[in-house]
Amino acid sequence: MKFSELFHTIQGEGQLIGVPSVFFRTSYCNLRCVWCDTPYTSWEPEDRDITVAESVAAITRYGCKHVVITGGEPFIQPEPLTELCHELDKRGHHITIETNATLFAEVAAHLISMSPKLRNSNPPEDNHFFKRHERERICPEVIRKFLDAYPCQVKFVVDTPEDLTEIQTLQTEIGIPAETSC
Ligand code: SF4
Repeated sequence: MKFSELFHTIQGEGQLIGVPSVFFRTSYCNLRCVWCDTPYTSWEPEDRDITVAESVAAITRYGCKHVVITGGEPFIQPEPLTELCHELDKRGHHITIETNATLFAEVAAHLISMSPKLRNSNPPEDNHFFKRHERERICPEVIRKFLDAYPCQVKFVVDTPEDLTEIQTLQTEIGIPAETSC
């Protein structure tokens, strides 16, 4: 599995704000947000490999119930992600997966934290990632599948008042319940 970092901290957002958690950050992402706060998993991905068994050992070492699998985009590696979630679930962990909600897989997760990307995430038009990012950043069918299959929360990155209009349009068109947004 392509992996970037692992650390123990306090969850700082969403339904589980304040809960001590181990963060496991996968590497690689299918999007290229212009303001990406982890460019070492997207624009210039780190290329470290870790096996699922090594990941489980590193995560469980903290003795912490809550695990947050984040990225990059975790669902870009569905097979090791499925195995990792299975092993952590078996050991009684609560698993949150943070995702850009453009790729779907069925895994043993307890909360899916979706962060669909608004127009403000687009790279400059002359960047060679622009077209792909703009085409892939919102996948209504994937968002709906997550909403149907898992407990979910939905986060948006807001920059300007116009972004709120875009969010309201998405919520209406996709059918995102207002109570999932945070
Ligand atoms: S989806 Fe997340 S990891 Fe990927 S480019 Fe955007 S902010 Fe970065």
